[in-house]
Amino acid sequence: MDIADVKGPVLRPGDEGYDNERAGFQALAQHRPDVIVGATDAGDVRAAVKYAAANGLPVAVQATGHGMPIAAEGGLLISTRRMAGVRVHGDTARFEAGVRWGRVIEEAAPHGLAPLSGSAPSVGAVSYTLGGGIGLMARRHGYAADQVRAIEVVTADGELRRELPGSALFWALLGGRGNFGVVTALEVGLVPVTHLYGGGLFFDRVAEAVHGWAAWTQDLPEEMTSSVAVISFPDSPELPEPFRGRRVAHVRVAYVGAREDGERLLAPLRAIGPRVVDDVRTMPYTESGSIYSDPPGPLASHNSHTLLRELPPRAVDALLGTEDALLELRHLGGALAKPGQAPVGHRDALYTQSTISRLTPGADTADARELHARVRESVSPWSTGGRSLNFLYGGNTDPAQVRLAYEPDDYRRLQELKGEWDAGNLFRLNANIPPA
Ligand SMILES: Cc1cc2nc3c(=O)[nH]c(=O)nc-3n(C[C@H](O)[C@H](O)[C@H](O)COP(=O)(O)OP(=O)(O)OC[C@H]3O[C@@H](n4cnc5c(N)ncnc54)[C@H](O)[C@@H]3O)c2cc1C
Repeated sequence: MDIADVKGPVLRPGDEGYDNERAGFQALAQHRPDVIVGATDAGDVRAAVKYAAANGLPVAVQATGHGMPIAAEGGLLISTRRMAGVRVHGDTARFEAGVRWGRVIEEAAPHGLAPLSGSAPSVGAVSYTLGGGIGLMARRHGYAADQVRAIEVVTADGELRRELPGSALFWALLGGRGNFGVVTALEVGLVPVTHLYGGGLFFDRVAEAVHGWAAWTQDLPEEMTSSVAVISFPDSPELPEPFRGRRVAHVRVAYVGAREDGERLLAPLRAIGPRVVDDVRTMPYTESGSIYSDPPGPLASHNSHTLLRELPPRAVDALLGTEDALLELRHLGGALAKPGQAPVGHRDALYTQSTISRLTPGADTADARELHARVRESVSPWSTGGRSLNFLYGGNTDPAQVRLAYEPDDYRRLQELKGEWDAGNLFRLNANIPPA
């Protein structure tokens, strides 16, 4: 098997199609590999990995670019966007490496089922799942990684393997994602959900709204998963009138249950004050991307986050006292706090706190880094010190940060397994776990 046998395109700098193939959602920086393999199937992935190993080229993988951990300078990039197969059988979905959640949602819906997808249907289903996966129904159904039933992967020796629960490599891939190989397909369990009572509520009295949301989350059933983002919209004619030039709190809710119960639960939230927009409604799961309405991209941003064990009013005051970045809080707990098969750390955390700075492509991130450090410092009394692997992207994935996503024993075991499966760290252009 040789790179000449690859069925998809093999592209080098200067080739037509090279720039398009390496482009993705994150526009802050771009991969500049020596060679890109546009894989069409597991055979292409095997050929690419063997070629990389034989030529001493580190391997990067890209499906959509939403989670670009580090921009590859040199090396070999495997682009999986052509690996687009999805099949639903019983309550299991099998999907290939390049599939976005939107496709899985569409395929599952006619069976009365839904995947544990997240805010954006355009995110890649494989990487999201192997990074933990905090979905719209997370407090009810837990981490997506705990629902994985089989993993097909090409390891550093170029072999294609099918790993099942119980194998050490299966466990390592559930937490270590691309550190142990290139995953070509996943099989995951689906849940019997056809509709949500969900949507967004926008408040322009930001402090009242964030305090009100934080208080509201203290006593909610698992069926309710929610978040709030504080967003400053530019005064742009391209935006709908209610948002132009406004700083708003955007509360996003997803309730798995009957509309009447959802309305009753939402009443204290609606009582916080007037809403600029309130589009919470019963919706088919196929419309669930409208709850967050994440931007379609490409987008240049610097991102960082931390996990919080609690969110008292003083923590909200501290957060709101910091500068004008986009701040987001997601409510965890519920089923996320239960033990599961995946080495996802910090299951006791109750909130994620993310900071997102929009920048221009190629911008210097020094100011954003300083600002993010100040935000993290402001909430440090309530932080677990932990990270969530999926939210480590956008220029924030040095190994010290990655380590914070795991319990110490799990991290040590992952390092040992990395030594067994990829001692040469061929797979290092990622959220890297160096071998022990
Ligand atoms: C707008 C937005 C919304 C998001 N919403 C959520 C959410 O609700 N919940 C949540 O948990 N996360 C969320 N995330 C985070 C997201 O799940 C991660 O960034 C995830 O890694 C994105 O995967 P991707 O394939 O789309 O991105 P890519 O950038 O293509 O992949 C990210 C990394 O994953 C690795 N990788 C990708 N494919 C493979 C493979 N086949 N084999 C091995 N390694 C691979 C590579 O290291 C790659 O660099 C969101 C991110 C964004 C930007």
